[in-house]
Order: sequence, then C-alpha cells, then structure tokens
Amino acid sequence: MNICPECGCEYKDSVTKCPDCDVLLVTKKQKEEKDRRYKNWEVVYTAGSNYEAEMMRTNLESANIECVILNQKDRSFQLDGDLGIIKILVPIDKVSDALVVIENAESFDDDEEIEDNFGS
Ligand SMILES: [Zn+2]
Repeated sequence: MNICPECGCEYKDSVTKCPDCDVLLVTKKQKEEKDRRYKNWEVVYTAGSNYEAEMMRTNLESANIECVILNQKDRSFQLDGDLGIIKILVPIDKVSDALVVIENAESFDDDEEIEDNFGS
C-alpha cells in the first residue's frame, strides 16, 4: 500500500505517483515516520491559499520560527475547484511565539484603514 504524502490517499503498490498532487507516493511506514516527526508540531494557522500560507511562513521565518506548510487537499473540496486547506505547523515550544507573529501579521492588514484616518 502506497500513500500520497500530500493528500493522504492510498493507492495500490503498482501506483508510484499521486495523479491529483503529482508527487511520488510513500509507503505506509514512511508516512507513519513522517507523521511521528510532526508529532511535536502544532497547527497554528490555516490558510485558504498557497499565497496566504507562503506569506505567513515568511512572517514566521523572519521571526526565526521554524515552520512547515502541510497542504492537505481533500478530494471533496476539489469538486468546488477549491484549493483545499493548507496548515502551517510550528514546533510545540514555539506555538505561543508563532501565535503572536500571526496575530501581528493579521492586525497589520486590518490597520491599513486606521492608518489612513491617523493621517488626516
Ligand atoms: Zn495526492
């Protein structure tokens, strides 16, 4: 049994590549090892697009917080042409730091209009 590391779909051993994600499949054992590697990681942000996820990763990395992006495409979402759900994970001991960075990054967006008001 081979598993797609991106979407988690299972395929026969004869299939080596996920047709949906265009990535090479891994064995169940490899997948489990990968999952274990992320056991001490926690999801701190869920993005709706790759762009949004990359922006947030840039923010986190500029704050010296190690992070990974997990793109968990769900087959049912693809019917709507949706990009799926993208999760950003950080090590558990960095979660509180990361949440501060994310909060600042999000409020920075909201502040744009307020700053205009300050100018007048
Ligand atoms: Zn896949």
